[in-house]
Order: sequence, then structure tokens, then C-alpha cells
Amino acid sequence: MERLRQAIPLITAWYAKNRKALPWREEQTPYHVWISEIMLQQTRIEAVIPYYKRFLRAFPDVQALARAPEEQLLKLWEGLGYYSRARNLQKAARQICDLYGGEIPETAEELERLPGIGAYTAGAIASIACGKPEPAVDGNVLRVLARFDASNADVTAPAVRKRTTEKLRAVYPSGAAAGALTEGLMELGETVCLPNAAPRCAVCPLAGLCAAHARKRETDFPVRGAKKERRIEQKTVLLLQCGDLTALKKRPDTGLLARMWGFPMADGAWDQDTVLARFPGADIVPLGEAVHLFTHVEWHMVGWRVRLNAPTDGFLWASREEILQRYAVPTAFKPYLRQL
Ligand code: SF4
Repeated sequence: MERLRQAIPLITAWYAKNRKALPWREEQTPYHVWISEIMLQQTRIEAVIPYYKRFLRAFPDVQALARAPEEQLLKLWEGLGYYSRARNLQKAARQICDLYGGEIPETAEELERLPGIGAYTAGAIASIACGKPEPAVDGNVLRVLARFDASNADVTAPAVRKRTTEKLRAVYPSGAAAGALTEGLMELGETVCLPNAAPRCAVCPLAGLCAAHARKRETDFPVRGAKKERRIEQKTVLLLQCGDLTALKKRPDTGLLARMWGFPMADGAWDQDTVLARFPGADIVPLGEAVHLFTHVEWHMVGWRVRLNAPTDGFLWASREEILQRYAVPTAFKPYLRQL
């Protein structure tokens, strides 16, 4: 614990010198930190920047987010993926208006009760925007500390994340140092104690205290349990077209891409005979294969353009412009969206 205590001022001083200028760091209000942290989940910093700016222009505060039309919210999220994040942001914004008079609560405990805010995001908002002594432990932090301690514990195990959080909480500072430690640890993980390459120990402020570095065993850590293989699902995507209109279908309420607009889809990989059996006499064109990766599932898709004489019921028929401008069509469908 003493080594960890000694590490804190080294990390905050390093961060003060190496802090990257990012739009959400200009004014670190709870709202700004919250939106940026949710966008940054599963998405690279460079990719998030334009989304963050557009989002803040459209919804500058909690109240604006709470009253946003869902279609506009999802359109602004288009391409970021994991759309439940956007829906949860709005649900939480509405709860903040109803329960807290529009002021985002400051304690990690209250924050964690809001939809879509887990321990990590609650810790990030509480420490960075509110100066609370609350750690935010993500993959970067787990990696840095696993190396710092030369720990053989499996960093994918929830118990290890919990232990790491508790250890940090016991030594976490308050005020500006809390935010500097949270961001410093994350940034150290992103830029120095690298995940998929040899760590840059020569420029690391922790080099003199780091157990893995002392043993020259930096790349032996962190230890990870075996990864589960993704399940492969075969799908057929149909671009049903009539004149200059194309059919969209809202996806089911549960499952992958729930309640998002997409092209009609069927299970299994349909060949030409199957498509013609479903749409006798239609003019059909193969649109090729595409693969989309979700966290636990892979969609292996084949696409068909099917020209119909009249629009059929059960779909929303929209022009190319309407689809591109108004509806948030998830990235999984992009290979076929491009063929409109
Ligand atoms: S000294 Fe090297 S291994 Fe240790 S925390 Fe720094 S970059 Fe990571």
C-alpha cells in the first residue's frame, strides 16, 4: 500500500505535464464528463471527438437531453454503436430532472443508481468533475496496476476489479488531485503502459516503483483468463425496393440492436432459389457478403436487392435521402446501406 501511496503524486505530476487537450477537458462539468465517458466506452478517443462536439451542440445540458426526440438522439449516435448507451443517457437525464431537479448528483453511490452508469463511470464523474476520492477502474487502470504489482490475478475477474478499486479507494486523494489521478492513470495506460505493445517504461513516472519493471517481466502482466469465442450467426439482409423507396424494419424490442431501424433480415444464408421462392418473379441482384462483429456474436451476412412492383405491408418505406438523413441505421447494415 505504501508503494501505491508513493505512486500517486508521481502520476498526478506526470499528468499535469502530459495532459492531452481534449474537448471534454475544457470545462469538466459532471455533464461533460458523463457524456464523454459514455461515448468513450468501446470507442477510440479520435472517433469520439466529432460525436461529442455535435452532441453537445444539440444537447448542451441535462434538460435538453431529457426532452430530445429519440430519433434525433439516435441519429446523432449513428456510427458509435451500442445504441443502448444513448437510450440510457436519456433515461438517466430524465431521472436527474425528476429526482434531482436537473442537477447531476455528485456521489458515486447516487450516480450508480442511474441507468447506464456503472462503477467506472460513476467514479470518473465523481472524481474528475466533483473532486470526490473515488477511483474509476477500467482496463487501462487494471493493466497499469497489475504490472505495478506484478500481480498474477486474472484482470478479467470481477473480484480483481473490485479488489483493485478498494485498494485505490483507500489511498485516493480529494479535490483536484482526485480528477488528476483518475485521468492520469487512464492516460498512462493509453500512452505509456501500452496494452498491445511493449510498455514505454523509460518514460514512465512509475518505473522506480514498478514491480514488473524491476523484474524485467513487464509483458508477463496483466494475466487474463481464456476468452470466450464469439458465436457465428448466418443472416440474410434484404434491400426490398419499389421505385425509389426502400423498406426499413424496426428490430425487435430485445436482442442485438433492439428497436433500431434496419433492413429486413432473415436467419440463415439465403441463396438465389430461396430469395425467388419468397419473392416470385421479382428482379433480384446479389449484394455480396459482409461480416459484423458484436461483443459475443458475429453476423455473417449475405445481401440481396429485391425489386418489387408494389410496396408490401409491415415495413417503413423511405427514400434514400430520408434513410440517410433521418434514420439511425446501425453500422452492421452499412455494407448494404452503401449500395442504396
Ligand atoms: S514501469 Fe513500465 S510496466 Fe511499470 S507501469 Fe510503467 S510502463 Fe507499465
